[in-house]
Amino acid sequence: MSLTILVFAKQVPDTKNITGKAMKDDGTVNRAALPAIFNPEDLNGVELALALRERYGGKVVVATMGPPAAANILRHALYMGADESILLTDRRFAGADTLATSYTLAAAARKAGPFDLVICGRQAIDGDTAQVGPQLAEKLNIPQLIYVAEVESVEAGRLRGRCLIDGGYEIIESPLPCLLTVVAEANVPRPAGARRLMQYKRAVTRSELLARHGGRDYEDANVLAEEEASLRRRGLWIHEWTAGDLAVDPNRIGMAGSPTKVKAIQSVVLTGKGSKQVPPTDEGIAGLVHELIAEHILS
Ligand SMILES: Cc1cc2nc3c(=O)[nH]c(=O)nc-3n(C[C@H](O)[C@H](O)[C@H](O)COP(=O)(O)OP(=O)(O)OC[C@H]3O[C@@H](n4cnc5c(N)ncnc54)[C@H](O)[C@@H]3O)c2cc1C
Repeated sequence: MSLTILVFAKQVPDTKNITGKAMKDDGTVNRAALPAIFNPEDLNGVELALALRERYGGKVVVATMGPPAAANILRHALYMGADESILLTDRRFAGADTLATSYTLAAAARKAGPFDLVICGRQAIDGDTAQVGPQLAEKLNIPQLIYVAEVESVEAGRLRGRCLIDGGYEIIESPLPCLLTVVAEANVPRPAGARRLMQYKRAVTRSELLARHGGRDYEDANVLAEEEASLRRRGLWIHEWTAGDLAVDPNRIGMAGSPTKVKAIQSVVLTGKGSKQVPPTDEGIAGLVHELIAEHILS
């Protein structure tokens, strides 16, 4: 059987290298202060999709919602081996919480589909909520396997996965189509292929093509149409969709559709207050337990 797979990937601020004020006053991320990277577990998602395509045949499409520069992670996915990519970009998508994000991604999946599998990372390193994958499955009305560490098999329209749970694994089987969220231990993402890099570094979105011609005011539609057709033929066209291209309610996307507001973030640094030796005897342990009860740590 061959599998048509959609992977959702997010461009995130590199939270290990914060170079300025991380948040803006409105509680959204100050992306200008932070170098942007491919969300790490979404690379595991792309790798899983490519490995499944190699096992069963099919097609891998990678999509992201973000600012125009998020096209960079789509090019990276093409370097790794993805067949097609879609950028969802529109000022009206900005400031989305998980509710608005999953609503928008669901609309994009419906427009791009149908798919046998939708794959997300477990969580993004900026919001860290791990809510988007499960919410997306609900909105698409398909079953979900979360924290997937391995896809054991896909046979007769059913997928069998090994999912991480506290202290172990569980094996879950689901009919297709279904959604997976993937953990880092699932695989080691392959690096960009050198030949693919040389080929796909020229892949562009419509906005990037317009920018080559000096911007949005460029009016020679024939030249644009010819260039677009040539790029499409060579697989160098990154689809770019705005809110107008999706069947979405403007009140359910971006800031307008987001009840969650991040008021502030705090950098919490845990510092030890020294240590205390407890003798490995019954008396030593009884003394420690009494102390913990007295300090209301144990009850
Ligand atoms: C500090 C901070 C705290 C936040 N807290 C909350 C909160 O409590 N509640 C809330 O609703 N929002 C919150 N947000 C907003 C949140 O970052 C955005 O809603 C974001 O668009 C999606 O949530 P996430 O990053 O937590 O994604 P997660 O749910 O962690 O992402 C899981 C997976 O979904 C996919 N995915 C997520 N976003 C995209 C995208 N834009 N394009 C493609 N694929 C995507 C990826 O595969 C990703 O690995 C917070 C943001 C910040 C910066």
